[in-house]
Amino acid sequence: MDIWGLLSGDRPAFLDGAMGTELIKRGLRLGDPPELLNLEGPEKVLEVQRAYVEAGAQVLLTNTFGGNRLKLRRAGMEEKLEEVNRKAVEIAKEASEGRALVAGNLGPTGEFVEPYGTFSEEDLYRAFREQAEVLASSGVDLFVIETMSDLREVGAAVRACREFGLPVAASMSFEPAGGQFRTMMGVKPQDAARALEEAGADMVGTNCGGISPEEIAGVVVEMRKATERPVFAEPNAGRPKLVDGRAVYTLPPEEFVEGMRKVAEAGAKLLGGCCGTTPEHIRLLVRKLG
Ligand SMILES: [Zn+2]
Repeated sequence: MDIWGLLSGDRPAFLDGAMGTELIKRGLRLGDPPELLNLEGPEKVLEVQRAYVEAGAQVLLTNTFGGNRLKLRRAGMEEKLEEVNRKAVEIAKEASEGRALVAGNLGPTGEFVEPYGTFSEEDLYRAFREQAEVLASSGVDLFVIETMSDLREVGAAVRACREFGLPVAASMSFEPAGGQFRTMMGVKPQDAARALEEAGADMVGTNCGGISPEEIAGVVVEMRKATERPVFAEPNAGRPKLVDGRAVYTLPPEEFVEGMRKVAEAGAKLLGGCCGTTPEHIRLLVRKLG
Protein backbone atom coordinates (compact mmCIF):
# COMPACT_ATOMS: atom_id res chain seq x y z
CA MET A 1 0.00 0.00 0.00
CA ASP A 2 1.27 3.48 -0.86
CA ILE A 3 -0.14 6.85 0.12
CA TRP A 4 -2.39 6.91 -2.96
CA GLY A 5 -3.90 3.59 -1.92
CA LEU A 6 -4.60 4.99 1.54
CA LEU A 7 -6.22 8.06 0.06
CA SER A 8 -8.42 6.17 -2.40
CA GLY A 9 -11.02 5.05 0.14
CA ASP A 10 -14.26 6.80 1.11
CA ARG A 11 -13.02 7.22 4.67
CA PRO A 12 -10.15 9.43 5.76
CA ALA A 13 -6.68 7.96 6.28
CA PHE A 14 -4.68 8.62 9.45
CA LEU A 15 -1.35 10.14 10.32
CA ASP A 16 0.16 9.86 13.80
CA GLY A 17 0.03 12.44 16.59
CA ALA A 18 2.60 14.54 18.42
CA MET A 19 6.18 13.43 18.94
CA GLY A 20 7.78 16.35 20.83
CA THR A 21 5.26 16.53 23.66
CA GLU A 22 5.31 12.72 24.01
CA LEU A 23 9.11 12.75 24.28
CA ILE A 24 8.96 15.46 26.95
CA LYS A 25 6.76 13.09 29.00
CA ARG A 26 9.50 10.50 28.60
CA GLY A 27 12.26 12.76 29.86
CA LEU A 28 13.35 14.93 26.92
CA ARG A 29 14.72 18.07 28.59
CA LEU A 30 13.09 21.34 27.54
CA GLY A 31 15.45 23.06 25.16
CA ASP A 32 17.05 19.83 23.92
CA PRO A 33 16.22 19.00 20.30
CA PRO A 34 13.87 15.97 20.08
CA GLU A 35 16.16 14.60 17.33
CA LEU A 36 18.84 14.03 19.97
CA LEU A 37 16.83 11.05 21.23
CA ASN A 38 17.21 9.25 17.89
CA LEU A 39 20.79 8.74 19.05
CA GLU A 40 20.59 8.91 22.85
CA GLY A 41 17.17 7.41 23.57
CA PRO A 42 15.94 5.56 20.48
CA GLU A 43 13.80 3.24 22.64
CA LYS A 44 11.74 6.29 23.66
CA VAL A 45 11.09 7.33 20.07
CA LEU A 46 10.27 3.71 19.22
CA GLU A 47 7.81 3.47 22.12
CA VAL A 48 5.92 6.58 20.99
CA GLN A 49 5.74 5.41 17.39
CA ARG A 50 4.65 1.89 18.33
CA ALA A 51 1.85 3.41 20.38
CA TYR A 52 0.70 5.34 17.32
CA VAL A 53 0.74 2.23 15.13
CA GLU A 54 -1.25 0.38 17.81
CA ALA A 55 -3.69 3.31 17.84
CA GLY A 56 -4.28 2.89 14.10
CA ALA A 57 -2.00 5.46 12.49
CA GLN A 58 -1.31 4.51 8.87
CA VAL A 59 1.52 6.96 8.34
CA LEU A 60 4.35 7.53 10.86
CA LEU A 61 6.41 10.70 10.72
CA THR A 62 10.12 10.33 11.39
CA ASN A 63 11.52 12.22 14.39
CA THR A 64 13.39 14.63 12.11
CA PHE A 65 11.28 17.81 12.21
CA GLY A 66 14.38 19.86 13.13
CA GLY A 67 16.85 17.67 11.24
CA ASN A 68 18.07 20.22 8.70
CA ARG A 69 21.59 21.66 8.88
CA LEU A 70 20.57 25.19 9.86
CA LYS A 71 18.46 24.02 12.78
CA LEU A 72 20.92 21.37 13.93
CA ARG A 73 23.73 23.92 13.81
CA ARG A 74 22.03 26.06 16.42
CA ALA A 75 21.60 22.97 18.58
CA GLY A 76 25.30 22.16 18.27
CA MET A 77 24.49 18.93 16.40
CA GLU A 78 25.44 19.86 12.87
CA GLU A 79 27.98 17.05 12.47
CA LYS A 80 25.29 14.50 13.42
CA LEU A 81 22.97 15.40 10.54
CA GLU A 82 23.28 12.20 8.57
CA GLU A 83 23.20 9.92 11.62
CA VAL A 84 20.19 11.68 13.17
CA ASN A 85 18.10 11.40 10.01
CA ARG A 86 19.17 7.89 9.08
CA LYS A 87 18.54 6.55 12.57
CA ALA A 88 15.10 8.20 12.67
CA VAL A 89 14.01 6.30 9.56
CA GLU A 90 15.31 3.03 11.04
CA ILE A 91 13.32 3.59 14.24
CA ALA A 92 10.11 4.46 12.38
CA LYS A 93 10.45 1.39 10.15
CA GLU A 94 11.00 -0.80 13.17
CA ALA A 95 7.90 0.69 14.84
CA SER A 96 5.76 0.30 11.73
CA GLU A 97 6.58 -3.38 11.11
CA GLY A 98 5.16 -2.82 7.64
CA ARG A 99 1.77 -1.76 9.03
CA ALA A 100 2.27 1.95 8.41
CA LEU A 101 4.02 4.06 5.81
CA VAL A 102 7.07 6.02 6.95
CA ALA A 103 7.11 9.71 6.06
CA GLY A 104 10.30 11.73 6.21
CA ASN A 105 9.37 14.76 8.28
CA LEU A 106 10.84 18.21 7.57
CA GLY A 107 10.17 21.41 9.50
CA PRO A 108 11.30 25.03 9.23
CA THR A 109 14.96 25.98 9.35
CA GLY A 110 14.22 28.66 11.93
CA GLU A 111 15.89 31.18 9.61
CA PHE A 112 14.28 33.94 7.59
CA VAL A 113 14.79 34.57 3.92
CA GLU A 114 16.20 37.96 2.86
CA PRO A 115 15.35 40.78 3.52
CA TYR A 116 14.00 39.63 6.93
CA GLY A 117 17.00 37.38 7.50
CA THR A 118 20.42 36.67 6.05
CA PHE A 119 19.60 33.55 4.05
CA SER A 120 18.62 33.22 0.40
CA GLU A 121 15.97 30.82 -0.85
CA GLU A 122 18.81 28.86 -2.40
CA ASP A 123 20.44 28.43 1.04
CA LEU A 124 17.22 27.00 2.42
CA TYR A 125 16.75 24.79 -0.63
CA ARG A 126 20.23 23.33 -0.11
CA ALA A 127 19.54 22.66 3.56
CA PHE A 128 16.27 20.86 2.78
CA ARG A 129 17.77 18.93 -0.12
CA GLU A 130 20.59 17.66 2.06
CA GLN A 131 18.14 16.38 4.69
CA ALA A 132 15.71 14.97 2.12
CA GLU A 133 18.53 13.05 0.45
CA VAL A 134 19.40 11.24 3.68
CA LEU A 135 15.72 10.50 4.37
CA ALA A 136 15.11 9.25 0.82
CA SER A 137 18.20 7.06 0.72
CA SER A 138 17.17 5.59 4.09
CA GLY A 139 13.92 4.42 2.51
CA VAL A 140 11.06 6.75 3.46
CA ASP A 141 7.81 6.27 1.50
CA LEU A 142 6.95 9.96 1.21
CA PHE A 143 7.80 13.37 2.64
CA VAL A 144 5.69 15.45 5.02
CA ILE A 145 6.75 19.11 5.35
CA GLU A 146 5.10 20.83 8.33
CA THR A 147 4.55 24.02 10.33
CA MET A 148 5.66 26.40 7.59
CA SER A 149 4.64 30.06 7.58
CA ASP A 150 6.71 31.54 4.74
CA LEU A 151 5.82 30.70 1.12
CA ARG A 152 9.42 30.99 -0.02
CA GLU A 153 10.69 28.62 2.64
CA VAL A 154 7.99 26.02 2.06
CA GLY A 155 8.49 26.37 -1.69
CA ALA A 156 12.19 25.63 -1.25
CA ALA A 157 11.35 22.58 0.87
CA VAL A 158 8.83 21.22 -1.65
CA ARG A 159 11.22 21.69 -4.56
CA ALA A 160 14.02 20.00 -2.63
CA CYS A 161 11.86 16.98 -1.75
CA ARG A 162 10.57 16.72 -5.32
CA GLU A 163 14.08 15.80 -6.45
CA PHE A 164 13.72 12.28 -5.05
CA GLY A 165 10.65 11.07 -6.90
CA LEU A 166 8.55 10.44 -3.78
CA PRO A 167 5.13 11.90 -2.93
CA VAL A 168 5.38 15.25 -1.11
CA ALA A 169 2.86 16.59 1.40
CA ALA A 170 3.32 20.19 2.56
CA SER A 171 1.57 21.98 5.39
CA MET A 172 1.42 25.52 6.76
CA SER A 173 0.36 26.80 10.20
CA PHE A 174 -2.34 29.42 10.60
CA GLU A 175 -3.37 31.83 13.32
CA PRO A 176 -6.79 33.44 13.74
CA ALA A 177 -6.81 36.95 12.27
CA GLY A 178 -10.01 38.98 12.47
CA GLY A 179 -12.37 36.12 11.65
CA GLN A 180 -9.98 34.78 9.01
CA PHE A 181 -6.70 32.92 9.10
CA ARG A 182 -3.14 33.94 8.31
CA THR A 183 0.26 32.35 8.78
CA MET A 184 2.77 34.25 10.93
CA MET A 185 4.10 35.69 7.67
CA GLY A 186 0.63 36.82 6.58
CA VAL A 187 -0.22 34.10 4.04
CA LYS A 188 -3.92 33.22 3.55
CA PRO A 189 -5.06 29.57 3.25
CA GLN A 190 -6.14 29.88 -0.40
CA ASP A 191 -2.85 31.49 -1.42
CA ALA A 192 -0.98 28.81 0.52
CA ALA A 193 -2.84 25.98 -1.23
CA ARG A 194 -2.24 27.51 -4.65
CA ALA A 195 1.45 28.14 -4.02
CA LEU A 196 2.07 24.68 -2.56
CA GLU A 197 0.45 23.06 -5.58
CA GLU A 198 2.49 25.24 -7.93
CA ALA A 199 5.69 24.31 -6.11
CA GLY A 200 4.84 20.66 -6.80
CA ALA A 201 3.23 19.38 -3.59
CA ASP A 202 1.04 16.30 -4.10
CA MET A 203 -0.93 16.96 -0.91
CA VAL A 204 -1.49 20.32 0.77
CA GLY A 205 -2.38 20.80 4.38
CA THR A 206 -2.38 22.62 7.64
CA ASN A 207 -1.00 21.75 11.06
CA CYS A 208 -0.22 23.33 14.42
CA GLY A 209 -0.82 27.06 14.95
CA GLY A 210 -2.81 28.87 17.61
CA ILE A 211 -6.12 27.42 16.47
CA SER A 212 -8.50 24.65 17.48
CA PRO A 213 -9.47 21.60 15.39
CA GLU A 214 -12.82 23.27 14.62
CA GLU A 215 -11.06 26.36 13.34
CA ILE A 216 -8.74 24.14 11.27
CA ALA A 217 -11.90 22.91 9.51
CA GLY A 218 -12.32 26.52 8.33
CA VAL A 219 -8.78 26.52 6.95
CA VAL A 220 -9.48 23.25 5.11
CA VAL A 221 -12.60 24.77 3.51
CA GLU A 222 -10.52 27.71 2.26
CA MET A 223 -7.69 25.51 0.96
CA ARG A 224 -10.09 23.30 -0.95
CA LYS A 225 -11.43 26.31 -2.83
CA ALA A 226 -7.96 26.76 -4.31
CA THR A 227 -6.73 23.23 -5.05
CA GLU A 228 -7.86 19.82 -6.26
CA ARG A 229 -5.01 18.15 -4.41
CA PRO A 230 -5.90 16.02 -1.37
CA VAL A 231 -5.92 18.17 1.78
CA PHE A 232 -4.55 16.95 5.10
CA ALA A 233 -4.88 18.37 8.61
CA GLU A 234 -3.05 17.87 11.90
CA PRO A 235 -4.42 20.22 14.55
CA ASN A 236 -2.94 20.66 18.01
CA ALA A 237 -4.86 19.38 21.03
CA GLY A 238 -6.70 22.69 21.13
CA ARG A 239 -5.51 26.25 21.29
CA PRO A 240 -2.37 26.61 23.39
CA LYS A 241 -2.72 27.84 26.97
CA LEU A 242 0.19 29.56 28.65
CA VAL A 243 1.26 27.82 31.86
CA ASP A 244 4.43 29.05 33.57
CA GLY A 245 5.40 30.84 30.40
CA ARG A 246 5.10 27.88 28.08
CA ALA A 247 2.37 26.64 25.77
CA VAL A 248 0.39 23.59 26.85
CA TYR A 249 -2.29 21.76 24.88
CA THR A 250 -5.03 20.17 26.91
CA LEU A 251 -8.01 19.36 24.67
CA PRO A 252 -9.11 15.83 25.66
CA PRO A 253 -9.47 13.11 22.98
CA GLU A 254 -13.31 13.24 22.91
CA GLU A 255 -13.39 16.97 22.16
CA PHE A 256 -10.47 16.69 19.75
CA VAL A 257 -12.38 14.07 17.76
CA GLU A 258 -15.55 16.21 17.74
CA GLY A 259 -13.51 18.98 16.11
CA MET A 260 -11.93 16.48 13.71
CA ARG A 261 -15.36 15.35 12.58
CA LYS A 262 -15.79 18.88 11.21
CA VAL A 263 -12.34 18.74 9.64
CA ALA A 264 -13.33 15.53 7.85
CA GLU A 265 -16.66 17.04 6.78
CA ALA A 266 -14.72 19.99 5.37
CA GLY A 267 -13.07 17.45 3.06
CA ALA A 268 -9.70 16.66 4.62
CA LYS A 269 -8.60 13.21 3.43
CA LEU A 270 -5.71 12.58 5.78
CA LEU A 271 -6.07 13.33 9.49
CA GLY A 272 -3.57 13.42 12.32
CA GLY A 273 -2.54 15.43 15.33
CA CYS A 274 0.11 18.00 16.21
CA CYS A 275 1.26 19.42 19.58
CA GLY A 276 -0.30 17.85 22.65
CA THR A 277 -2.06 15.01 20.84
CA THR A 278 -1.37 11.53 22.17
CA PRO A 279 -1.89 7.92 21.06
CA GLU A 280 -5.28 8.16 22.84
CA HIS A 281 -6.31 11.04 20.58
CA ILE A 282 -5.36 9.05 17.48
CA ARG A 283 -6.98 5.85 18.76
CA LEU A 284 -10.32 7.59 19.29
CA LEU A 285 -9.98 9.46 15.99
CA VAL A 286 -9.49 6.20 14.08
CA ARG A 287 -12.30 4.49 15.96
CA LYS A 288 -14.83 7.28 15.36
CA LEU A 289 -13.92 8.41 11.85
CA GLY A 290 -12.13 5.42 10.32
ZN1 LIG B 1 2.02 21.73 16.76
